[in-house]
Amino acid sequence: METTSSTTASSSDFIREIVSDDLKAGRVQEVVTRFPPEPNGYLHIGHAKSIFINFEIAREYGGKTNLRFDDTNPLKEDSEYVNAIQEDVAWLGFKWDGLYFASDYFEEMYQRAIRLIKKGKAYVDDLSADQLRETRGTLTESGQNSPYRDRSVEENLALFERMRKGEFRDGERVLRAKIDMASPNLNMRDPVLYRISHAVHHNTGDKWCIYPMYAFAHPLEDAIEGVTHSLCTLEFKDQRPLYDWVIQECEMENVPHQYEFGRLNLSNTVMSKRYLKRLVDEKLVDGWDDPRMPTISGLRRRGFTPEAIRSFVSELGITIAGGEVDYKLLEHHVRLDLNVRAPRAMAVIKPIKVVITNYPEDLTEMMEMEINPEQPELGTKKVQFSREIYIDRDDFMEVPPPKYHRLYPGNEVRLKNAYFVTCTDFVKDDEGNVVEVHCTYDPETRSGSGFTARKVKGTIHWVDAKSAIQAEFRLYEPLLAGDFDEELPLEQTINPDSIKIEHGYIGADLKDAKPQEKYQFVRHGYFNVDPKDSTPEKKVFNLIVSLKSSFKIDNPAGK
Ligand code: ATP
Ligand code: MG
Repeated sequence: METTSSTTASSSDFIREIVSDDLKAGRVQEVVTRFPPEPNGYLHIGHAKSIFINFEIAREYGGKTNLRFDDTNPLKEDSEYVNAIQEDVAWLGFKWDGLYFASDYFEEMYQRAIRLIKKGKAYVDDLSADQLRETRGTLTESGQNSPYRDRSVEENLALFERMRKGEFRDGERVLRAKIDMASPNLNMRDPVLYRISHAVHHNTGDKWCIYPMYAFAHPLEDAIEGVTHSLCTLEFKDQRPLYDWVIQECEMENVPHQYEFGRLNLSNTVMSKRYLKRLVDEKLVDGWDDPRMPTISGLRRRGFTPEAIRSFVSELGITIAGGEVDYKLLEHHVRLDLNVRAPRAMAVIKPIKVVITNYPEDLTEMMEMEINPEQPELGTKKVQFSREIYIDRDDFMEVPPPKYHRLYPGNEVRLKNAYFVTCTDFVKDDEGNVVEVHCTYDPETRSGSGFTARKVKGTIHWVDAKSAIQAEFRLYEPLLAGDFDEELPLEQTINPDSIKIEHGYIGADLKDAKPQEKYQFVRHGYFNVDPKDSTPEKKVFNLIVSLKSSFKIDNPAGK
């Protein structure tokens, strides 16, 4: 099933090669992949890579992808996360074929464990967690057999049954695979398959008090669903022999195979759910969707688009090496996408008032502003102009430094989409701050009039004071203060400048701006209408990304 995208450069990665060989050789009739998050937190940008790989590969080869919740650890899981994960995957633009829960297979897994016991391939062990660790051996020393290793099949069956019935306390007994305590692969040294946990599960309630371990559950889940290619990150590589052992010894009909790729690591970003959850629980951020969070919901609220995230992870490709990727590459993709789609508008973030003293007091004019030069077919919109306007504080200086071409006494600049104005004087308050700037304008210079008699070096943006609407601007910097140090108290890992709030103005052309709409504020950057805090009366804008990039495309994807 060749598709156009499978013949592009990306088709050369090792996973696509395996998949296409399996299809050609007839080992696989239909490709089935899965994205298997544990519902113990929200998805982050790292998960987007895994989602993309699983869904895209299946799509390219005409196969299927399941969304499966790997919910085998009742203590950490919650249906809030189950819902959020579905929302995020769908928002990223992927449609799953089957929606499954590992917990729906608990009975089947239990039966497969009994089969192992009957074959003499699993036993109930009474050793404590500490004793299990102590007898496991090291990379250079083999482990020791448990004194309970040679229990009879009957005794094991009876004990496992009693474990299920809830006759033992947490940690009192486990079910272990009987493999080889001398294996050079530590995962093969009689790994634990089941543990006791008297906990309420988000899906099965208190039906179970024994739960399968990941290493036992995951291969069974894949086999039950008919997954053909089980794609996961590199830290599971050493588990592959155990994965295959479980499939074989449990006599699963479908035989999935596991393949590993490199995790996405982003500069200046911690993606561990454990860390992100602590930030949320200790209220150091405004929830999982705080716009500074590297979560999918945080990026969405910040204003990143699914298209930009997809083109970013697509550029990363599938590599085994998991080098660190520059965060600026992600921002670069966001700019590329928003440049084309975001309408332009003028906003003043740190305002100062300008009075155009020779402009008639009762006059207002509607100026033409191009909606988006990247989409000329959208045409122009009208922007109100009158005698008093706001400009950004940084666009006026009482004493200009060299090469400063914006407003200062005696200098003439262009007001974007309007007139040339010349600064005549300014007003200071008692503390010496400039609070008002006075200018005169030249009616001949109206934008669009074809005026060419003289040129100016600076163009600045503005908002008409009479019709301006107050707005809050949230300006973001990286959440992390420098290199991440897990030893530091949590508060100290956070950059105190990661959010700055400014109060300024937008023009009346944005009075109907809706949550999640994105704009390019000329000379400032791309902004998103905050979906949580913005109201029709007081709009709140999140800085998505600034306009200019210091990004040099050298080896951005860390390949
Ligand atoms: P975390 O360590 O952040 O809690 P996890 O690996 O425990 O992440 P899971 O819910 O188990 O999270 O992950 C679901 C899938 O996403 C797994 O197949 C996992 O390998 C993959 N995944 C998680 N983090 C990344 C990442 N940074 N890059 C690529 N894939 C990832
Ligand atoms: Mg995990």
